[in-house]
This record gives sequence, structure tokens and C-alpha cells, in this order.
Amino acid sequence: MKIKCLGGFREVGKNAVLIESKENVLFDYGMEVDTGKLPLPVKKVDMIVLSHAHLDHSGYCPVIYKKFKPPIYSTIATFELSHLLLKDSIKIAKFKGLPKHFRKNDLKKMKKYEVITTYGQKIEGENFSLDVFDAGHIPGSTAQLLEIENKRILYVCDFNVNTTRLLNGARIDAKDVDVLILENTYAKKEHPQREETEKKFFETVQGTIANEGVAVIPCFAVGRSAEVLMILNSFKPDFPIYLDGMSKTATEITLSYPEFLRDAEALRRALENVTEVWKGEERKRLVKEPCAIVSSSGMLEGGPSVSYVKYLYNHPESSIIFTGFLIPRTAGRRLVETGRFVTEGFDLKIKMSIHKFDLSAHSGRSDLFNFVNKINPEKVICLHGDYCEDFAKELKEKDFDAIAPKNGDIIDID
Ligand SMILES: [Zn+2]
Ligand SMILES: [Zn+2]
Repeated sequence: MKIKCLGGFREVGKNAVLIESKENVLFDYGMEVDTGKLPLPVKKVDMIVLSHAHLDHSGYCPVIYKKFKPPIYSTIATFELSHLLLKDSIKIAKFKGLPKHFRKNDLKKMKKYEVITTYGQKIEGENFSLDVFDAGHIPGSTAQLLEIENKRILYVCDFNVNTTRLLNGARIDAKDVDVLILENTYAKKEHPQREETEKKFFETVQGTIANEGVAVIPCFAVGRSAEVLMILNSFKPDFPIYLDGMSKTATEITLSYPEFLRDAEALRRALENVTEVWKGEERKRLVKEPCAIVSSSGMLEGGPSVSYVKYLYNHPESSIIFTGFLIPRTAGRRLVETGRFVTEGFDLKIKMSIHKFDLSAHSGRSDLFNFVNKINPEKVICLHGDYCEDFAKELKEKDFDAIAPKNGDIIDID
């Protein structure tokens, strides 16, 4: 058996791992979100296992259906959210002039081959079995244990062991694991204490409003927008909150599958206190009064969050409040690093105050070590991080057989 590293190794983006065995199993086939780059190509695919809806995992699954017709396994929430993001990615590619790697038609083809799984389920195929676990990362996210040719391969990418407002922490109890394929996003960083972070986040929003400003909160449409609304609502806000962009539909889809949520009722209550923005012309009007705006995209790469920053960039009383990991080379990351908002045709010096809070949906550094200890696998393959090599080295020092391969590497499993 061989494991082919197709993408997402020593980087965050275009995640794809191929297990070459009796059946060729593809874990994710994602997109490099900022450049639209593809993972390495595949020659044969018998099945796809999709971990979750984020585009760095789902982004190029439809490309596979140009040539092959494999079943694709994931939860209903992941499929629904993926379709939302994938359709949008076609529009974004057009807008940015990025190469088109698939069309709506390929997405429709993929839909025919979707096999719905759920947490706690075991799927038995002729040559394999697949256990599905709750990864605690975004609604519908999974980790999977693939057993094939007497090898047990656990794919965990992405996951969060910590309970958040929206989701339960990951519940992955796999035993006798031969190979653990593990995300490393926060290999170098511990998350700050969540309660304290939520409090400071709310105080920053409230402070902006007390200053007669507008708090723009760019959020990932999927998961993060709902989480942020729930946090805001828990502090009983006395100011208007708006929800805009794809965050609206993503949050509605999220709420329509309460079985994947920790507290669907709290999300429903939070949404009752929110005004959705459906018309472009409303945006100009609502930024004239102090308020909080939760909107996609989270990294200021398109979506109404970009329009709000363009309206308000010259207003020092207003603020931009980021809440999670900012992928290198995105407009959001550059803004935090340079104070300038550089995007299609614009280069603006931002006078708004810029804040960044860690409301991450990924496991932190010690969570990663604890998880490896708990699973105690024969081998660890590190991916999805900027410090995979360092993390593998640290695991080795703790006597784990850990590696951090590059994209294109092929690992023999015997
Ligand atoms: Zn993710
Ligand atoms: Zn990811």
C-alpha cells in the first residue's frame, strides 16, 4: 500500500491524500484558496472521502468527476455546505480571473455519486470499512478511520477537541491505528482561554459602538458566522447586529441540521436578534449608525465584508475584528501585517482599528500532542500546517514514528 501526498503538505491549502491499495481512496481534493491552484492529479479513484465543506478540502472534488465516477462519502451537512461554497468559488474564480478547473455541470455530476454518512456510522464495503467520527471543526465535519488490506488509517483534518458554542468537541475513539494522518494548523500555538477571549471580543465590539463606530466582523460563512452570532448574543447586546453575504445561507443550512450542533436552540435565539441584509443598497445606509456586522468572507477575499471595509476605511472610530486563522497571501492577512487593504484595483490605508481574536475551530498545540498520545498510532503523517516538519520532529523526540512529507512524496506502508 502507498500513500500519495497530493496537496496540503507543509502548507495550508489544496488538501488531498490518496491511499493506493485494492481500492484507490482519495481523502479530500481541495483548492489553494488564494491562487486557485489544484492538488497533484490522480490516475485512478475508486472512492472519495470528504472530511468537511471548507474549500481547502472540498474545493476541487468536482474536478474528479470530469474523468471518474467514484462514490463520495460525507455527511449531509457537509454536502449542502460544500455545494454552497463550490458554486460561489466558480463565481470568485471568474471575478478574479483565475483558471476555471470545473463547471456547474461537474458539480451536478458529483451530486449523483454522493453517499450520506453520519457520526458513529460504520460503512462496510467489499474491500474496506470506514468509521465516521465527529471532528468538532465545523457543522458536519468528520474524521474517518479507513480499514483496508488489514491496515487502519485514521484521517483527521481538520478537527477541534474543544467544545465551542456551536459544536461539541471532536469525538474520535479509534483503536489500533497504523497510520494517523493529522492536521498541524496550530502546532506552534496554544489557544488562549476561550471564555476570556469571548469576553474581550465582545468588549471590543461594544467599545466600537460606544465610540459611535461600526464593528465589521469578517467571518468564514460556514460555522464561524454562527459561532460569532452565538457569542454576541450570549452577552445580551443592546446594539443592532447585521448578518450579510453567504454567511446568511450557510447559517440557515447549519440550523437546518441540528443533529450536528451542540445547541441549535441557542443559535435559533441568536438569529432572532439579527437583521439579515439582502440588498446591496442597504449596506451604505446601515454603516451610518453604530452597529456590528457579521459577514463573509472571513479573509476579505470577496463578499460584502470587502464592501463594508471600503465604505469605512477612513473612519478611525470603526473597527475590523478578525476571529481566526488568516491564510498567508490573503487580503485579510496582509491587512493585519501592513495596515493596508490591497484587493482588486484598490490599495487603501486603513484608519479603522484592527483587532484579531483567536476563536479558532482547530485543536491547539497541546491538544495535538494529547491526541497523538491517546491514539498512539504506529506512524504519524503530518500535514495542513506551516510547521509540519518541526511538529514531526517534536513527535519523534517523544518516540513516535512521525514524518512531514512534501507534496509529491509517496510513502510505502507495509
Ligand atoms: Zn477546515
Ligand atoms: Zn483546512
